[in-house]
Amino acid sequence: MPRPLHARIDLSALRGNLAAARRAAPRARVMAVIKANGYGHGMLRAAAALSEADGFAVTTLEEAVALKAAGAAQAILLLEGFFGPEELPEIARHGLSTVVHSPEQLDMLERARLPAKMAVWLKVNSGMNRLGFPPQQFAAALARLRDCPAVGSIGLMTHFASADEAAGIAAQVEVFEGLAAGRPYPRSLANSAALLRYPEVHADWVRPGIMLYGASPFADQAAAEWGLRPVMTLESAIIAVQQLRRGDRVGYGGTFAAERPMRVGVVACGYADGYPRHAPSGTPVRVDGQDSRLLGRVSMDMLCVDLSHLPQAGVGSPVVLWGDGLPVERVARAAGTISYQLLCALAPRVPLREIP
Ligand SMILES: *Cc1c(COP(=O)(O)O)cnc(C)c1O
Repeated sequence: MPRPLHARIDLSALRGNLAAARRAAPRARVMAVIKANGYGHGMLRAAAALSEADGFAVTTLEEAVALKAAGAAQAILLLEGFFGPEELPEIARHGLSTVVHSPEQLDMLERARLPAKMAVWLKVNSGMNRLGFPPQQFAAALARLRDCPAVGSIGLMTHFASADEAAGIAAQVEVFEGLAAGRPYPRSLANSAALLRYPEVHADWVRPGIMLYGASPFADQAAAEWGLRPVMTLESAIIAVQQLRRGDRVGYGGTFAAERPMRVGVVACGYADGYPRHAPSGTPVRVDGQDSRLLGRVSMDMLCVDLSHLPQAGVGSPVVLWGDGLPVERVARAAGTISYQLLCALAPRVPLREIP
């Protein structure tokens, strides 16, 4: 028998979550964000399951070219644009769309002699201060794009810093709409959080990522409330059991000490598999279909769980680290991180099993 750890990937959940995005944003086209290896689910696998999407968004030219080679016919957007002029002919040849977010990219575009015109999305820095032209440079950048022979269609986009938080999006929307008003270009603003909470910014294209994978973008609202289902279930099994006496300690550093006699299960899953090492004792784990908790430090290949209330559980009992019955957001919160990081950090050594 192989090591029991694997990630089950439920493709019907992926399709269902896309349908939920469409129901929430019925008038917008959907650009499915499949960067970072489809948030750890496998980019081409995610793209195939999301074939009903109107477009895909990725980070690198390599990802976009692989999508094309796999037969994707939709618009494919490079979210950070191009990194050097040598990428431009390939972007044009493959008919890819690119973000243009910086003066350096504008210069490269103006100098390029390309085999075809490119679709570009002009990115506005409406307040996040990550990528994009600041408001006072927007009009000049747009004028240069309009005059650029390499440029075909133009869209206007921005990205929200706090669509998932109380701070909200109002200030950024005001900046963006102030610049885009009256201009005849398609617009795109909404990530998953804005798609779900702010219908007024659906505009022409929404850009959901995390919700497609069945995780909630919000700390205060579960994914199930939006009809979303987890796509990835990280599953393993108990490979050993220890009987502790009062005062016995568990794992490296002995950070957990038993207050009374108890049984501990050892699970085949560790930080080298992508499970967060900083998850503390008490982080939720499902064992044999029941709620349990992590005990002690996470090791490279193993972690320990509490079996004191699960007398029937033993070697071979199934364990869910996150997914079905245990939303990844709950594990992320306990570990002081976010679902995105746990999903993306799944290690390549963990076998993925597709469920159609
Ligand atoms: C990653 C990303 C998204 C998707 O964000 P989610 O929070 O996963 O929905 C949308 N737009 C841009 C520009 C991104 O980088």
